[in-house]
Amino acid sequence: MVRSAHTKPHGEERPKAASRTMAKNAAPSFETRPAGAPQDEAQRLPHRAAHDDFRWDGVEMRPYKEDERALYKSITRQVLFSDPNMAGELRYFEVAPGGFSTLERHDHMHAVLILRGSGHCLVGDAVKSLETNDLVTVAPMTWHQFRATKGEPLGFLCMVNAERDKPQLPSAEDVARLRKHPAIAAFLDNKPKA
Ligand code: MN
Repeated sequence: MVRSAHTKPHGEERPKAASRTMAKNAAPSFETRPAGAPQDEAQRLPHRAAHDDFRWDGVEMRPYKEDERALYKSITRQVLFSDPNMAGELRYFEVAPGGFSTLERHDHMHAVLILRGSGHCLVGDAVKSLETNDLVTVAPMTWHQFRATKGEPLGFLCMVNAERDKPQLPSAEDVARLRKHPAIAAFLDNKPKA
């Protein structure tokens, strides 16, 4: 059976997924997933077929789940590649029209490729219009958010370090400072210009 051959390739215990994903003692969040999730084994299969609508064999989709603080809206996450032998992970996020990712910053970087649709992003002080196949780099400690602002989904691949620090959320003062930029204020109101 293929599954058992891939479970412990060198007779070693694989680290629990959750402990690799977020800093220790981090509260459960959108980013965490159950330890020993079935997809951990599926990710070592040599081939996983794509399905319609940006789904893949053996990849669990975290469904829409709105935080009571409304930090994000209508965004799903699929972990495509994650393995103890790789320093990075590749995820696919999809934001439904009108939805957005969390406005946050952290030490780890993001390398993003827009795979589906269009929208806008905030990176630092810059609001950018996004089209399919565009690339976005989020440097360390840079405020960033992705929004599906153009009446269609915004789907993107996001490469990150497997070991990464917990995202920081903006204080009221941080948001006020960002809103002094008219383009950022419009973006945060989901009405970006151009
Ligand atoms: Mn981030």
